[in-house]
Amino acid sequence: MKKIMAVNAGSSSLKFQLLEMPEEKLVTSGIVERIGMKHSIFSIKVNGEKLEETLEIENHGIAVNILLNKLIDLKIIASFDEIAGVGHRVVHGGDRIAESIVLEQDEIDYLESIVDLAPLHLGPNLIGIKAFKEVLPHVKHVGVFDTAFHHTIPEEAFLYAVPYDWYTQYKVRKYGFHGTSHKYVSYRCAELLGKKPEDVNVIVAHIGNGASICAVKGGLSVDTTMGFTPLEGIPMGTRSGNIDPAIIEYMMNKKHKSAKEITNFLNKQSGYLGVSGISSDSRDLVAAAESGNHRAKLAIDVQAKRMADYIASYYVYMGGADAIVFTAGIGENAVPTRANVIERLAVLGAKIDHERNSKVRVEQLISADDSKIKVFVIPTNEEVMIARDTLSLL
Ligand code: AMP
Repeated sequence: MKKIMAVNAGSSSLKFQLLEMPEEKLVTSGIVERIGMKHSIFSIKVNGEKLEETLEIENHGIAVNILLNKLIDLKIIASFDEIAGVGHRVVHGGDRIAESIVLEQDEIDYLESIVDLAPLHLGPNLIGIKAFKEVLPHVKHVGVFDTAFHHTIPEEAFLYAVPYDWYTQYKVRKYGFHGTSHKYVSYRCAELLGKKPEDVNVIVAHIGNGASICAVKGGLSVDTTMGFTPLEGIPMGTRSGNIDPAIIEYMMNKKHKSAKEITNFLNKQSGYLGVSGISSDSRDLVAAAESGNHRAKLAIDVQAKRMADYIASYYVYMGGADAIVFTAGIGENAVPTRANVIERLAVLGAKIDHERNSKVRVEQLISADDSKIKVFVIPTNEEVMIARDTLSLL
């Protein structure tokens, strides 16, 4: 039995889970928020109870020290030596990293060299990795990459039809994200079908604030909706998903804004929020739609239509699919949104069972017995996947 720490470092936050492996038992979890700001918040769950403290935490290094010492104070571990390894969620592995790897100096140097592919996330990920390595220099640190699972996407699907040197010189291609979740969920789905991942085709809809769909053929990602960045694909909480790229220059001229400012609109003021004008949160939209708000319903429908389009296209691309799976915040909880999508797929023989679909946050078959394709909800668990990969590299 080994204790593995799964870490997800953002620009001002650090989420963690300590797991006992290989049992996959959660020991404790928590989050440090507002790092580098006034009144940072440290919270940790112990025996189901949440403890919260307001502290001044200037940087990620201090956050890591506080967190590890807290584990000792709370008698969750007796010494740092009990932590056998640390798995770091890393947003981007560029075109080189195709699987989880031990993070030595060479790997960190490589990640530094591709920071501009995902500056908002990769920079903070690296800060988290360095902070943990400094405090725990003797354990292995493993990088688990959001992009790695998508390395099996064939050239015809990852290449944009743009001048070829954009790809060769500037690395412009589809990378895809949420790979750890797509892998976990598609493997779990194979288990539920009583088959090996190699023997099934699964379409995973990871629909949270960020959202992407993945075609998983025989256990391998063969296409996904997010692309060079997490902006591509289906509309999300605040992101537009696909638009005609010519809109960018048109709106720059109309609004007298820079490309950066318009891209910011596409990332932060679009999707659910942009269309509804109400909220980026699916709970608010579901409630508003139910009380007759047209734009809230429209925001949900615009996303559901695009989801159904992609699911149908992946169904054709893979030559059929054994299952469609919903996961993440909206996929696990938004009952009417799931039904909305599946009802659009009737031509594939997909049929929802409304009674089964009424449950939230649980692993559940939600298709009818006479549905030609099984539809599941499978709660995602990226941390377990991170801990599994870390354990296998120790
Ligand atoms: P995530 O990014 O995976 O944490 O997902 C966040 C999204 O899940 C937000 O849009 C939430 O509104 C949505 N969500 C969480 N609970 C519910 C719920 N009960 N009904 C509808 N959406 C929900």
